[in-house]
Amino acid sequence: MTRSGSETKQTRCVHCGRTATRMNENDQPVCKDHTDREPKEIGCPECGFSMSIKEGRYGYFWGCDGYPGCEKTLSIKKSLQMDEYVDDDIEVSLE
Ligand SMILES: [Zn+2]
Ligand SMILES: [Zn+2]
Repeated sequence: MTRSGSETKQTRCVHCGRTATRMNENDQPVCKDHTDREPKEIGCPECGFSMSIKEGRYGYFWGCDGYPGCEKTLSIKKSLQMDEYVDDDIEVSLE
């Protein structure tokens, strides 16, 4: 598989939704301000299982650990809206 540049993937910080620059110890994309923050944990809104970061064709997203029993996925942006855990005045711009 060859990829022409990495621009096409949206990679957002799991904590704030800004552009992620690196991965934390749990392989979650994080921005430079959140590199040292505890890995984020979210629960599946469908089944209550924990969710973990997966890498897909269009970037990173949350996938349910109950897969394949549960196929719930969430974008990072969606997960931030869901738990209202967003840092002050961050502008999330979708490209
Ligand atoms: Zn961040
Ligand atoms: Zn689930």
